[in-house]
Order: sequence, then structure tokens, then C-alpha cells
Amino acid sequence: ATMREARIKKTKTVCTYCGVGCSFEIWTKGREILKVQPREHAPANGISTCVKGKWGWDFVNSEDRLKKPLIRQGDMFVESTWEEAINLIASKLTNTMEEHGPNSLGFIASSKCTNEENYLFQKLARSIFKTNNIDNCSRYCQSPATAGLLRTVGYGGDSGTIKDIASSDLVFVVGANPAESHPVLATRIKRAHKLHGQKLVIADIREHELAEMADFKIHPNPGSDLVWLSAITKYIIDQGWEAKEFLENRVKGYEDYVSSLEPYTIEYAEEKTGISKKQLIELATMIHEAKSVCILWAMGVTQHLGGSDTSTAISNLLLVTGNYGKPGTGAYPLRGHNNVQGACDFGTMPAWLPGYEPIENEKVRSRYEKAWGTELPKKPGLNNHQIVEAIHDGKVKAMYLFGEEMGLVDSNINHVEAAFEKLDFFVVQDIFLSKTARYADVVLPASPSLEKEGTFTNTERRIQRLYQVLEPLGESKPDWVIFQEIANALGANWKYEHPGDIMKEAASLAPLFAGVSYERLDGWKSQIWPVQADGTDSPLLYEKEFAFPDGKARLFQVEWTPPLEVGDEYDLHLNNGRILEHFHEGNMTYRVESIKKKVPNPWLEVSPELAKERGIKTGALVKLTSPYGEAKVRVWVTGHVKGNQLYFPMHSQEDESAVNKLTSSYYDKHTHTPNYKEMHVKMEIIKSE
Ligand code: SF4
Repeated sequence: ATMREARIKKTKTVCTYCGVGCSFEIWTKGREILKVQPREHAPANGISTCVKGKWGWDFVNSEDRLKKPLIRQGDMFVESTWEEAINLIASKLTNTMEEHGPNSLGFIASSKCTNEENYLFQKLARSIFKTNNIDNCSRYCQSPATAGLLRTVGYGGDSGTIKDIASSDLVFVVGANPAESHPVLATRIKRAHKLHGQKLVIADIREHELAEMADFKIHPNPGSDLVWLSAITKYIIDQGWEAKEFLENRVKGYEDYVSSLEPYTIEYAEEKTGISKKQLIELATMIHEAKSVCILWAMGVTQHLGGSDTSTAISNLLLVTGNYGKPGTGAYPLRGHNNVQGACDFGTMPAWLPGYEPIENEKVRSRYEKAWGTELPKKPGLNNHQIVEAIHDGKVKAMYLFGEEMGLVDSNINHVEAAFEKLDFFVVQDIFLSKTARYADVVLPASPSLEKEGTFTNTERRIQRLYQVLEPLGESKPDWVIFQEIANALGANWKYEHPGDIMKEAASLAPLFAGVSYERLDGWKSQIWPVQADGTDSPLLYEKEFAFPDGKARLFQVEWTPPLEVGDEYDLHLNNGRILEHFHEGNMTYRVESIKKKVPNPWLEVSPELAKERGIKTGALVKLTSPYGEAKVRVWVTGHVKGNQLYFPMHSQEDESAVNKLTSSYYDKHTHTPNYKEMHVKMEIIKSE
């Protein structure tokens, strides 16, 4: 190597953005990030990356990074020492717990942080503060998909790997926009479509990039997915096309399920979904004729009143057609954040300990009580939606949140902010003074992924290690270090020296991760859960058994919940989602100059028909009003949307153009995931061009 190369440090890391879990080398000199170098041995992505993974790292050196703890004094934040901040948190949370009971505390975990950090945070909440009031942002996104899979096949994760998707005969994407939300995964689909003749079918209300190249597509009425899914399943059964042997040997509840499909005739589906009979039959036929089918879905399915039931209907369709347990088949709820899978897997949920074992189960709980040397709370706690309501009701008094911009990404944020204002004590731990942090009493400076070690779990259930690229900036610290300091300030005597020690403990307690170890994850190696004690992992689920004690899958009966009726006043349907360049609230991507220059602000997609009717052009400024709030945004006239449907990317740094000023507090009844995608607004023109 040349002298110059010798001074360059090359470190393997895992992308901090989406759930595809691309890994690559980062080349640095001091704190300068020279480049992102993909390597062909990266298990999820090979040499592919998207714009965010390739260019989206400058935020780590942003001047806005928090470098010291801050403590509120009146309307101001004053810098403090770590000791002062930790002691204040330890005493305030303890006092609240003692005065109002453990369930007066709420804990919000982070899907951006590592498995080890999430594990430790739930240990802190449960073992030190004796509450199960803990949740993470999967409540805003994929909890309904998890519910649908737990009901039918038993594991809340993708059935196979990204490679498996590429090997499928027919890929069916429902309510997801992988080309912008999971770009490298979309590249795999595009390649398989082009080179191997893989069939691509899309169901979406919007004409997105993959829809443009699809072999077949449907644009159903918003909120009607359960109806057409059940109707094509029924049609397949009526034709005698169901997978008879598979159903007989591996699935329970078939007879009852078939009778529950009675109402979902093709005629009924045509009426409710707006998809023609001919198209529905064609779709059912394509699924029947394909040798292997996998279904990918995301927020377009889950963020509805009936999100869990629609996710269940997807899994039912796969079961009826025998599309589980073979390469190229199965269910793929696409995970949004880099580690939303891992945050759930490692127990930051109100009803589950790590590895999806119920806190209510005494045998499970006592295993943890023995290991942690303390009694744990028995009843499931509140989820993040319930925590917000409990703050409004005066029941939750103090909250500890890390790495989550709840004040922008939760629905109906006017209501959420009003809750923050009611808290007696609020700790926010983040890399920036986020919008949420502005309501805090103590703000702790954390370190982003490049400044720490640990593991992330991607959408394929693949656990991968990240190695430290840079030193923590200023006085910032990795989140796990902070949790340990708080626990030890309260006499816990935790002695984790490295995240590997935390994983070792988690693996010893949660059977799902029994054989996970840092040695087996060394370098570019990865493990896909469930991992047996001998290290054998599980790229493809359900080959022999489904994850129930009897090994059989369940067909689960569901009913359609129509979207909420709204008054005539709110005459336009507002959809929302991601764009390629930005990530969520944009706290990271808006601090990357090259990305910000390219896409400086959000916009509103308006159909050519509606633009003509209202007399507006691209660049017009409009005000949107819903029953919950208002937002101002510039218009882009585009054929991506049709008729009275609008599309509003969710990435906004400004209060004025935040989509969640408009969303409601209604939610999926089984999981409390907000119905972000069932929004109606009226539009007023402020400037027509
Ligand atoms: Fe990162 Fe996702 Fe892009 Fe891969 S596809 S580089 S994981 S944002």
C-alpha cells in the first residue's frame, strides 16, 4: 500500500437508513469520510448501495451534533456535566416511580439503535424501573404485519431472504414502494424481472416506479385491500386451485376459514375496490399459475384501521396457495428502519421479552428474574400510543425516549406535543436537538452508528455487526454506555465492557438467538434468526414446521373494516410515504449538503386532472386542512397520482409542512398503529403557480 493508503482507515459498517441492511466499508482519514466502498461479500447487498448509503453520512460531522448533556432551566437549556445529568435522571425517575408507581413511567426505544442498546433499555425499564411501558416505532409501521404473521405462521419476520425474493417466479408488491423505500431490494427485483423473466405484480393506489415496469397492476380504492385479497383467495378455492396436500398436512382451520370467505365474491370486490372482475380473475389466475409466489408489503397495507387483518389476509392467501416453506415463496413485510426488526426482536415492546416470549408467561419471566436477580412486572405495559393518552390522563408523568423523533413521526402531532408539555419529567437522548428534544428536561448527547459497535438486524432477520469508524464526537456517548451509567447510578452494578457482552447475555436468555455470538458474526459474517445453540441459522422459515407448538399454520378469519367516513368538506384523499433521497423526519438527510441541495423540501403530488380543475400548476402553494390541523406545501403536478388523490412525502423539517399535523388519532384496533394512510383533507390555494 502507498503511504497515503496506509493512513486511510477502512472499517466495515452497516447502513443506518433502511431495513435492507446494506453493509460496506467506510474509508476515513481522521473524521473525514472519504468514501463508501461496497464489497461483493456483503451478504444483503453485494456491491449495491443507494444514494443514502453512499452519500448520506455528513450528518455525523454536522455542527448541530449535541456534544454535551443539557439541562432545562426555565425556557433555556444549560450545558451540564454527565455526572449531573445522570444523577438528575436517576433521582427524578426514581422519585416519580416511588410517588406514582412504576407505571407512571414511559420508555420509548429506538429502531435506529443497536440490538444490544434496545436489549439494555428494556432491561433498564423492566428490572430497574419495574415497568413494561416500553415500545418502539414499529408501532407506527409494521406491528400489524407482525400481528398478521403471528396469527397465521408464527414468526414476525420475513419468510426468507432477499436472495429468495429474487428467485421467486412471481413477486407481488402490495402497498409498498421499494424503489424509493428499499432501493437495493428493488434493484434485485428489477434485475430478476429483466434477466430471469420473473413476473412482477403491483397493487397500489399510486403509480410508483416499480408499477411502471410491472407485468400486471391494480390500483384499488384506498383502504379496500382486504376485500380483493379475500376475493381472489375465494376465487382460487372456488376453482379448486387451492394447495390441497399442503393444506391437509400443514394447516389448521381450513373449513371454517372457507365459510368465512362467503361474502367476498368477485362481484362484491368489484363494487368495493373499483377493480374490474376481469382484472381480479386475471390476478387470481396468475397467482395460481406461478410456481412460487412471494408477497411484499409495507405501510400501504399496515397503516389502516384494518392493517392487522389485511396483513393476515395476505398470509391466508399464501397458505391457501401453498406458498410458504419453499424457496421463492412467503411473506415479506418490508422493514423500514435499519433496526426496527431488531428493536422488536430484543424486547422493546410492552408484552414481549426478547425473542417474542410473553412477559405474562411465568416460566419465561422467571428465567429473566433469575438472571437479572430481581422481580419483573407481570402484566403487559402500555404501547406508545397508550403512553401518549396516559400522559393526557395524568397517569404517565415521566418519559425516557432515545433516538426517536416522536414529535414529528407520530400521527396527530399537535396532540402528541400537548402530551409532552404535560410531562413532569422528560429525558430525550439523541444525536441532535430534535423537535422532540425541545420539550425535554434533560437532553443527552448520543453517538450515531459510525461511532459505536453493536449489531443491527435487517428485514431478512439477518444480524450483522458494525464496527466503530469514528470516536464519539465531543462528550457524546453510545446509547448502551448511557443506559449502563443510569442503572449503575441506581446501584445496579452492570459490568458490560463491550456490546458483545450484552449480546452474550441476550443469547443465553432468548432461545431465538441461542447461537448468536460476536465470533460467529465476525467481519462480514452474519446470522439469520432463529439461531440454534450450535450456530445453525435459518435463512428460509417454515420448510418443515410452522412456529406453533404443533408445527401447523393457522388460517385466521378476518373481516373488512371500511375506511372512516369523512364529511364532504374534506374532499381529497391524502396518501403519504417516503422518497428515495430522504429518510423519515430528515434529521440526518437534511444535514447532508449534497442531498439537501438536490431535494431541499417536500412537495405535494397533485394529479393533472385535479390541477386542471383547481387551476393550479407545479410550484403553486397550497394549504391543506384536516380536522386535526393544517400544513402548507408546494405542488408538483404529476401522473403518479390520479383524480382526487394526493401524495405528500413525510420528510419535513418544518412544522409548517409536516404531514402529521394532518393525521388523526384513529388506529388499527389490534395493534394501535395509526391509520396514517386514511386521511382526508381540503385544499386551498395560496398561490396558484
Ligand atoms: Fe442503506 Fe437501504 Fe440504501 Fe441499502 S438500500 S444503502 S440499507 S438506505
